[in-house]
Amino acid sequence: MTDTHDTSASPGSPLEAGPKQGYDPHGVEERWYRLWEARDLFRADATSSAPPYSIVIPPPNVTGSLHMGHALNNTLQDILIRWQRMQGRNTLWMPGTDHAGIATQNVVERQLAQEGLSREALGRESFIQRVWRWKEESGGTIIRQLKTLGCSCDWARERFTMDPGLSEAVKEVFCQLHEAGLVYRGDYIINWCPRCRTALSDLEVEYQERDGKLWFIRYPMASGGGGVMVATTRPETMLGDTAVAVHPEDERYRHLVGQTVILPLMNRKIPVIADAYVDPAFGTGLVKVTPAHDPKDFECGLRHDLPQVKVMADDGTMNGNAGRYQGLDRFACRDQVVKDLQREGLLVKAEDHRHAVGQCYRCQTVVEPSLSRQWFVRMKPLAEPAIRAVEDGRIRIIPPQWERTYFEWMHNIRDWCVSRQIWWGHRIPAWYCGPCEEVIVSRTPPTACPKCGRGALRQETDVLDTWFSSALWPFSTLGWPERTRELRVYYPTACLVTGFDILFFWVARMIMLGLRFMGDVPFRDVYIHGLIRDEQGEKMSKTRGNVIDPLHVIHGATLEELLVAARAGGAPPGALEGIRRQYPDGFPRFGADALRFTLAALAGQGSDVKLSVKRIEGYRFFCNKIWNAYRFVAGHLREEDVPTAPLSQLSLTLPDRWILSRMNEVTRGVTEAIQAYRFNDAASLLYQFLWHEYCDWYLELVKTRLTGTGDEAERRTGRLLLVRVLEQSLRLLHPIMPFITEEIWQRLPHEGVSIMLAPWPTSEDGFHSPEAMETMGYLMEVTREVRNVRSNYNISPGERLPVVLRTSNPTHDAVLQECEGYLTHLARLSRVTWGRQVAKPEMAASALVRGIEVYVPLEGVVDLAAERARLRRELAKVDEALDRVNRKLTNRDFLGKAPAEVVGRQRATHAELQDARTKLQEGLGRIEALLKR
Ligand SMILES: [Zn+2]
Ligand SMILES: [Zn+2]
Repeated sequence: MTDTHDTSASPGSPLEAGPKQGYDPHGVEERWYRLWEARDLFRADATSSAPPYSIVIPPPNVTGSLHMGHALNNTLQDILIRWQRMQGRNTLWMPGTDHAGIATQNVVERQLAQEGLSREALGRESFIQRVWRWKEESGGTIIRQLKTLGCSCDWARERFTMDPGLSEAVKEVFCQLHEAGLVYRGDYIINWCPRCRTALSDLEVEYQERDGKLWFIRYPMASGGGGVMVATTRPETMLGDTAVAVHPEDERYRHLVGQTVILPLMNRKIPVIADAYVDPAFGTGLVKVTPAHDPKDFECGLRHDLPQVKVMADDGTMNGNAGRYQGLDRFACRDQVVKDLQREGLLVKAEDHRHAVGQCYRCQTVVEPSLSRQWFVRMKPLAEPAIRAVEDGRIRIIPPQWERTYFEWMHNIRDWCVSRQIWWGHRIPAWYCGPCEEVIVSRTPPTACPKCGRGALRQETDVLDTWFSSALWPFSTLGWPERTRELRVYYPTACLVTGFDILFFWVARMIMLGLRFMGDVPFRDVYIHGLIRDEQGEKMSKTRGNVIDPLHVIHGATLEELLVAARAGGAPPGALEGIRRQYPDGFPRFGADALRFTLAALAGQGSDVKLSVKRIEGYRFFCNKIWNAYRFVAGHLREEDVPTAPLSQLSLTLPDRWILSRMNEVTRGVTEAIQAYRFNDAASLLYQFLWHEYCDWYLELVKTRLTGTGDEAERRTGRLLLVRVLEQSLRLLHPIMPFITEEIWQRLPHEGVSIMLAPWPTSEDGFHSPEAMETMGYLMEVTREVRNVRSNYNISPGERLPVVLRTSNPTHDAVLQECEGYLTHLARLSRVTWGRQVAKPEMAASALVRGIEVYVPLEGVVDLAAERARLRRELAKVDEALDRVNRKLTNRDFLGKAPAEVVGRQRATHAELQDARTKLQEGLGRIEALLKR
């Protein structure tokens, strides 16, 4: 059915706002989201016969709340899903959250600490119950926030990585990997966080450059005599040394190999060995070997069969193997060891040394490489098919430069330590037999040991790395290990949208496990977007105070709210001052549409998103522009303005043919851009078209037609086209700006229940008109030149001007014949004269437009002498201002003390003034040239 348009103000509709009012997203966004949900428009129907298109959401942490990175990631996914839905595909956007092992456990532990409790005091069972309770009460925040953003996920299918179904999948995968010999337990050097008291995978360690020391220590020879000098950044680990190593080809030390030295402080004899892993250029070329506390030493220890002496306990204090240092914290121990070495005369020197220190990505505690018995997944056999899948194009990584990173990592893959010593997570399905030490991996709890038959079994207390369950996400969410219809229809998914930071944590592992358990890739495309940064390209961080909260942007925020949030994030006073200065009135309600459009417009492939509130504000004006265009159209639309015949049967004027032709080009352009994940190109095409072609030119041209006394048929055509082009543009814009497009579309003549389900526009050859685009091109350029003359000579935009056009061929003349009326209107002319023979006027501003000489006579229009005087006065003012800024920018005191932001503003002012100066000088030059004639 066809709904008739509704121009009457319905209760609560923004139409009640005065005519000068812009678009107000308040109410509109919530209202449409509720309606979409109520009408079940996000639902994926697995029984549909339409071709499927599916995306799985990168599951946000259940502890999370929406930050700008999520906003970007989910906006792009929503654009793809809405676009495909409009194309009639059977779309599924699968939502859900991740249980986020350590992160969630930490949150609940902090709560317990406030109550004077601890997880140990509560016990495992009660603690886990407590986490579930927390999840039920506070875990849904991010899902509600994603709805605010407009995400059209199929919420009825929402999953959680600890759901019974997904937990079943985790257990099944672990058991199958074990049966295939790909899971093993081993003593291994792992990254240990002494605060979280758990192992971390290599990827969970963040490296930061820190100032430290390089200590040079002398180890005396066992045979007496001078001894050898080793260098280390972690002297406390020497307590666990079991050898000293040199490079086999290092001539300096060849004679030492095979000898024995005395480990100071511990008085233990250790050998000097030769191993090629030693870098002869580092320190003295002699290194201490601590197999239990350094990954490279660990490997070396295996090669030389060295003992592994662990000197630290799990909490980062020294253990019984550390002798008299037992019980000391590792850093206190370091100080003590250095002091003791000094006293014994064995500390040769200490040099300043800047080096990368590994930190826990959750709590920033310095990680301790430590020997420990863990569960591992053998990765090489899983990596090989995953490498091939990208090599042979079954998976495309976009932009392609990330492929190299992927290959590099996959070719050097190490086994994955999957056990974590925490409580919140999937408990490893393994049991230990007390009497015979057999390890049993089983889907169901075994009742007796299969080896010795006794029943004293103890379940493994470790849980799996949180990334283990998310690696199964594309098929576990669709019902695996059951063979569901959903799996048949929606697997492989179409595209994964993600940041590069989890390419290995998550994307690579999904590929490996998807291939292993589904026999096919989990997705066809991986689209990798950039990071969110601030305007200057700095990373957004709470302590820097430059974080922009998407919810503040969507709903608006007072200055006080901005400050409270920044303070809570630990922003220093300087940053708070910056916020006060930059946003004295807080944020207005920008709305989700403006935010989404900004993110899409800034999402250039392979580049980071440099976000600023100014950009968001600019796109809110874009919403106003569209809204006002709609208001103009609605104000002129009549009941009978429903197309009764194809547009091609109407008699179309030049601007009509032009706007249809441009609409056609933009339709093709936007489609191609989204298809190629060039979201910024799609946004920019739509912005240019709607603002600078539809509103600035077409609407202006039709306005004369509608208010003039011309032919009614022509006027009706104008109205029909205004609606037609607006309606099609709204459909093209809908994936990026879902709310305002729905609001306006519903008020225009339309078919169907929602723009969400309206067909995606296709380009139509019949609309293509190169001739109209060429001709309108002339018209617009001439108009622009006349506008330039107005601004160059300070002529009011309202004053009508004569124009003389000297043409160079008969086509020009014909074009001008046709366009005279439009040109007069657009350029606000009093008279247009044209022809190949017209005389060039005296005293005129001139320009050349595609072979047409454009003259604007200035005689009697501009008082050139007065204008020259005005420009000179302006120039003097600018020079004075420039002088002031120059003095500041050459003042060392100012440059040294002023905050970077203030200096930056002065530099910007300087550039603006320079620019103004150049323009004024050009203007003066023009006038002086005219006066000289
Ligand atoms: Zn930690
Ligand atoms: Zn047994």
